[in-house]
Amino acid sequence: MDRVECVVIGAGVVGLAIARQLAQAGREVIVLEALDAIGTVTSSRNSEVIHAGIYYPAGSLMARLCVQGRQAMYAYCRERGIAHRNSGKLIVATRPEEIARLQSIKAHAEANGVDDLEILSRAEANALEAELACEAALLSPSTGIVDSHGYMLSLRGEAEAAGAAFALLAPLRHGRVTADGFELDVGGEAPMRLACATLINAAGLSATTIARSLEGMPLDLIPPAYLAKGCYFSCSTRAPFSHLIYPVPEPGGLGVHLTLDLAGQARFGPDVEWVDRIDYTVDPARGNKFYPAIRRYWPALPDGALLPSYSGMRPKIVPPAVAVQDFMIQGPSAHGVRGLVNLFGIESPGLTSSLAIANHVEEIVKADAA
Ligand SMILES: Cc1cc2nc3c(=O)[nH]c(=O)nc-3n(C[C@H](O)[C@H](O)[C@H](O)COP(=O)(O)OP(=O)(O)OC[C@H]3O[C@@H](n4cnc5c(N)ncnc54)[C@H](O)[C@@H]3O)c2cc1C
Repeated sequence: MDRVECVVIGAGVVGLAIARQLAQAGREVIVLEALDAIGTVTSSRNSEVIHAGIYYPAGSLMARLCVQGRQAMYAYCRERGIAHRNSGKLIVATRPEEIARLQSIKAHAEANGVDDLEILSRAEANALEAELACEAALLSPSTGIVDSHGYMLSLRGEAEAAGAAFALLAPLRHGRVTADGFELDVGGEAPMRLACATLINAAGLSATTIARSLEGMPLDLIPPAYLAKGCYFSCSTRAPFSHLIYPVPEPGGLGVHLTLDLAGQARFGPDVEWVDRIDYTVDPARGNKFYPAIRRYWPALPDGALLPSYSGMRPKIVPPAVAVQDFMIQGPSAHGVRGLVNLFGIESPGLTSSLAIANHVEEIVKADAA
């Protein structure tokens, strides 16, 4: 059986960032990816927004890692010429009674270390976005967008340059905890058995399944898994906005918001639909709810302009009744298994936070080895 120092399960944006970080720290790393390419699951099915870190519960991992990750990601993309734009975002109050919410969102963001938000009057908002209908708005200057594929290719390239190896079509089937680490059964086209001292479970939607398939991992510490699907609609006409536009959030979601890709093309969504299996089909009928929501801030949205686009699945670890979840990054101090780090519930802002998550995981690995 071959033996390596570290195995990372999953080559999504999080596994890639962790593999790069561990390899650059001088560790021997193999990434096992079930599919035939990197980053084709949730990391390809998101809004590509660099989030500022506004809404997450104070003191949560999401709040901390999003702010750290956002700063790290802007620097990373700038230094390497990865396409991104610091477009800014407007959170809009479309009814007078929502104006007070802007103030409380601003105060919440400040507690998270996001201290650049600015409340704008209707006239000030319209000076930025002439076709925006609103009573007032909150400007987040540090929100932006990124070419997530360019970013992931760069992470992979740097991981490989630092010596990490990638095995594609190499799904982890089963594993067990041993006296000095782990033994792994890897399936796919070239099945193999592999031993390692450090195992990072960054399998996204499959992270809880992977943890359950690992003999020796305490089952009672594995969170339940739920799926919350998010559908996007693209816009057949050019939307006249250069900022991302979000309504004041509503219970259970951020509301139907407008994000832009780097070519300036608008997309709306994602909405929230709790489902019990993975199916990425976008039902055109879901668009009917988008029109009235979007017209509250963009009254000129033409009839028939919305086209079903794509969808993504949020890896939830709390049921629908629980409004918020946090990232759950479990190291040996949480589960007692030396060398193991499980990453559960890495939904948004996982892309933004990826470099900070990698740093956090490396700290866990270092503390475990000490
Ligand atoms: C609708 C939606 C919108 C979002 N928008 C944003 C946004 O705008 N900004 C932001 O910061 N974040 C956003 N996110 C969150 C972000 O996309 C995720 O947090 C991030 O992509 C998670 O990356 P990951 O590497 O954990 O998971 P994934 O990208 O799912 O990667 C996991 C990998 O593990 C592999 N795998 C699974 N099982 C096995 C196995 N047995 N063996 C080997 N490999 C395996 C999979 O094939 C996959 O490649 C959004 C998420 C959703 C769902």
